Amino acid sequence: MPCRRAALPCSPDAASAPIILSYGETVGSHSTGIALEHSALAAALLQHAGELPGVTVRRARVTGAIGFDGPSVHVETSDGERLEAAVLIAADGRGSKLREAAGIGAARGAPVRMAGVLVKGPLPYEGYGHVVLGGRAPVLAYRVGRSAVRVLFTRCGADGRPGADDVSALPDPLAAQVAGAVAASELASTTVFALTPGRSSRGRLFLAGDSGGCVHPVTATGVSFCAADALRLQRALGAARGDVLAASEAYAVERTAPLRTRVALGPLLAETLGAPGPEARALRTGLVRYWRSDRRGRGASIGLLSTHEPRFGVLAREYVKVLGHALAGVAAERAPISERLGLCARLVSSTSRLAARALRA
Ligand SMILES: Cc1cc2nc3c(=O)[nH]c(=O)nc-3n(C[C@H](O)[C@H](O)[C@H](O)COP(=O)(O)OP(=O)(O)OC[C@H]3O[C@@H](n4cnc5c(N)ncnc54)[C@H](O)[C@@H]3O)c2cc1C
Repeated sequence: MPCRRAALPCSPDAASAPIILSYGETVGSHSTGIALEHSALAAALLQHAGELPGVTVRRARVTGAIGFDGPSVHVETSDGERLEAAVLIAADGRGSKLREAAGIGAARGAPVRMAGVLVKGPLPYEGYGHVVLGGRAPVLAYRVGRSAVRVLFTRCGADGRPGADDVSALPDPLAAQVAGAVAASELASTTVFALTPGRSSRGRLFLAGDSGGCVHPVTATGVSFCAADALRLQRALGAARGDVLAASEAYAVERTAPLRTRVALGPLLAETLGAPGPEARALRTGLVRYWRSDRRGRGASIGLLSTHEPRFGVLAREYVKVLGHALAGVAAERAPISERLGLCARLVSSTSRLAARALRA
């Protein structure tokens, strides 16, 4: 489904108008995205790949690979086949066995349990993806079919169920539909974690998509980053004119900056939108103020979220602006000056810690 993004801040001001974030506000970007179920996207891509000249699709799983730095990689599959490859692209997801086989280490973030459910809708703003901020953690809602809206709770309990606050933060009729689906045990939950690999290639092996790193799904950057990886691969292999090892080095270099920006964006956004406590609440309010008041700021944010904008410096600048709005919001509150000063000091210190962690990632 064609889809833009909308943030719906339902709390503390449940009656407030939504903030429309449009890809069209990002300079040089298309105005719409697309929302599809993962399985539909994967099936369509595989079918298309299989129809390309010179492509053979094999359904067996890859069980091992060696010789990444040699004249060709030896690949073994679950049906016992042995293949020789000049180039091996590891697009085998976050748990990539090929990444492990090549000895590329990866730092893992803390596990986060999420739950998803399909309901009918309608969505309040059809044609947009929705981010609902009124509960304990953001809830995403996207139309993925004529009568199917995917609702994703970005935090849920150990029992795999969303919190009551998160369900009731949803606009009508989604809240009632989700409550019905929860009662009927129609939820599916999964545990996700961020992952940052030490490098993006080794010899003839290229990491692409989640095998080359992933972040908190609230950023919804995964598929855009996969597509950008495909383009980076095409450029690197094309420019190296058959020298795969040179292409491998170039790919790793070109991927470093956008990966760093994405790896920093994940926790910054997840904590800003979902962390408890007065500092995170002030930062959230600052982000909402910023988006409401600054068209270019909205464009810059959506540029980062669509991975159209890969520069770390832009992320840092935007984060500082959000902090400025958060501080201004705290300063304008009707609370004793000592309380406001204390919150401002804690806000600066917690955001500095968060930013330092993002920089180290
Ligand atoms: C809950 C959740 C919500 C998300 N929401 C969004 C969103 O809204 N927007 C967005 O852009 N991204 C989202 N993402 C991220 C997105 O799903 C991923 O970034 C994307 O699917 C990564 O694609 P991939 O091809 O790299 O890996 P995957 O989609 O994981 O595909 C890997 C494939 O490799 C196959 N495979 C694995 N091992 C082997 C083997 N040994 N041999 C052969 N095949 C193998 C697997 O079967 C699978 O088909 C979300 C992720 C999660 C977990």
